[in-house]
Amino acid sequence: MDFAARVERVEPSATVAVSNLASQLEADGVDVVDLSVGEPDFPTPEPIVEAGKDAMDAGHTGYTPSNGIPALRQAIADKLAADGLDYAPEEIVVTPGGKQSLYEIFQTLLDDGDEVVLLDPAWVSYEAMAKLAGANLSRVDLAQYDFQLEPGLDDLADAVDDDTELLVVNSPSNPTGAVFSDAALEGVRDLAVEHDVTVVSDEIYKEITYGTEATSLGTLDGMAERTITVNGFSKAYSMTGWRLGYYAASEELVEQSGKLHSHSVTCATNFVQHAGVTALEEVEAEIDEMAEAFEERRDFLIEAFAERGVEVPEPDGAFYMMLPVDEEDQAWCEEAIEEAHVAMVPGSAFGTPGYARISYAASLDRLEEAVDRLDDAGCL
Ligand code: PMP
Ligand code: GLU
Repeated sequence: MDFAARVERVEPSATVAVSNLASQLEADGVDVVDLSVGEPDFPTPEPIVEAGKDAMDAGHTGYTPSNGIPALRQAIADKLAADGLDYAPEEIVVTPGGKQSLYEIFQTLLDDGDEVVLLDPAWVSYEAMAKLAGANLSRVDLAQYDFQLEPGLDDLADAVDDDTELLVVNSPSNPTGAVFSDAALEGVRDLAVEHDVTVVSDEIYKEITYGTEATSLGTLDGMAERTITVNGFSKAYSMTGWRLGYYAASEELVEQSGKLHSHSVTCATNFVQHAGVTALEEVEAEIDEMAEAFEERRDFLIEAFAERGVEVPEPDGAFYMMLPVDEEDQAWCEEAIEEAHVAMVPGSAFGTPGYARISYAASLDRLEEAVDRLDDAGCL
């Protein structure tokens, strides 16, 4: 069969691939500590589950307006307003997962040969989505600055020019957990304004921070009109399998991307959208509890690695950290899964070799087990 060049130029998602491998080993009876995929290990909060069931019982099982039910778009507009972002419900598109939001944005804005700038290490799917749209990538290495953006602003200035179409900012970051400072975001703003660049601000981990807050890029002077804000319910509300996300952008963009949306997914699942309203309007304490649990796990890991002589840059948010390993990180991760039965994703999948990404969305017991196993197998 003759496949389209656009699919042949991308690789399958490395995060999903490692997780599949871990599941396969488990199916063979191996006890794997799976620290690969970025998925909270908590159940979806009860009020959300109840709202989903109630919505099904109430017959909310048909198509909805393509861009989302009015109640959810209003609840999202209210949430964004609380974060200092001014979007009308008409400027919001509800999608099956944040991934679909990003996919629609990339497809809507990028032509063949357009230039996209990523801050490395960057989440695996940005590269694939840019390539699927035919764009070229320019990557800025933040590993040399302990994953912080502020010291890397000069490098970013070298990468961004008048030909740059899109810049992607993800704070808190997957895979590093870094939360970019306001000064860093102001640096992004200055470059975006100077070179008239559109910026995607992927804020899917915004609710998960430790003793700090992640500023929404669109709140900065001059950024409202050039920022597309992406968020979703997977991480903050532990709703990965529900598939619910959204983006907020100018009505002009939504008019164009809405075509892709209606011709591909039609709409996000009806009763899931109703559950999303409950999540935004009624669930708060549970988010904080989950964030506190992640913080405790982060502290445990940082200390456990330090005790074994491994210094890991301390994340301020999300539930990831980058463990420094061999430059041959792929081989290191293969050995870790085969010898220690601990699954992690090689940093090279995120554009930064020499690291293994740990998703610490696992219980403290399992994390302790993981560190012991890695130590015993001589991986550390
Ligand atoms: N952005 C980032 C940075 C992510 O890590 C993820 C996780 N898959 C997503 C977007 C999309 O998540 P989802 O499609 O589950 O909303
Ligand atoms: N975002 C999560 C991760 O990076 C989930 C898997 C994916 O969609 O890539 O592991």
